[in-house]
Amino acid sequence: MLGMLDRGDFLQCAFVIPKGAAEKVRQRGLEAFRADIVELAPLLKDRVTELRSWDDIKLLTVKVDRLREWYRPGLLCIGDAAHAMSPIGGVGINLAIQDAVAAANRLAGPLRTGQAGIEVLADVQRRRMFPTRATQRMQILAQNKLLGRVLSSRELPTPPLPMRLMSRFPLLQRIPGRIVGWDSVPSTLPHRTWAQQRQRERPQKWAKADIGARTRKPASALT
Ligand SMILES: Cc1cc2nc3c(=O)[nH]c(=O)nc-3n(C[C@H](O)[C@H](O)[C@H](O)COP(=O)(O)OP(=O)(O)OC[C@H]3O[C@@H](n4cnc5c(N)ncnc54)[C@H](O)[C@@H]3O)c2cc1C
Repeated sequence: MLGMLDRGDFLQCAFVIPKGAAEKVRQRGLEAFRADIVELAPLLKDRVTELRSWDDIKLLTVKVDRLREWYRPGLLCIGDAAHAMSPIGGVGINLAIQDAVAAANRLAGPLRTGQAGIEVLADVQRRRMFPTRATQRMQILAQNKLLGRVLSSRELPTPPLPMRLMSRFPLLQRIPGRIVGWDSVPSTLPHRTWAQQRQRERPQKWAKADIGARTRKPASALT
């Protein structure tokens, strides 16, 4: 099975193999690997030569797990360090960024006052645990119901109805995008605090110019 993501000026490709089969693939040789790719995606015929050595191919061993505790005194694990995600859905970066925003929001204040104790770190884990578990559960479901079936057969499978619909009506592809980006408790930066901070940092002359602009009379009132 070959997954391809259009990244604008390049295609990110994932050649999916059963766990533990990497050595077997290598032993068959690079030429056989290139041929396997072209068999699955003939449009890559003149591109596979870009794979000059095994160094051009990265093995991503799929794991879905998470730490029981993400913290120790003075240490907080977030992103991949706290939870290994499956590549299904390409969500690793989303979760890592959401973790980082949640950690920044929770830690910024306590760190300023030197009060970032273990309870604060535990709060970050509590806050991020549900989205992590829910996403991992969805990935395992997709793995068992879909990918497992595809990998165990040489037949071309019929994609499930939602995928066929998304392929026919591209606008629907926004729905999984929304779901992936969705967070049960939105990890947004506190707008008011940010705006107030910006106001404080704004050079004085800008502030004066703004006041001028607000109090300036409309052109029609000038004689
Ligand atoms: C081949 C591949 C393809 C992927 N494709 C996708 C995708 O399409 N979409 C998606 O969402 N996710 C994808 N992922 C997963 C995604 O990259 C990760 O989930 C995400 O980068 C996790 O972010 P992170 O900040 O937790 O860790 P990382 O991005 O790994 O950041 C950790 C950083 O720490 C640095 N570091 C490590 N050790 C030390 C040290 N001792 N001292 C100082 N710095 C150190 C590393 O150099 C690195 O910069 C992919 C992963 C791989 C391997």
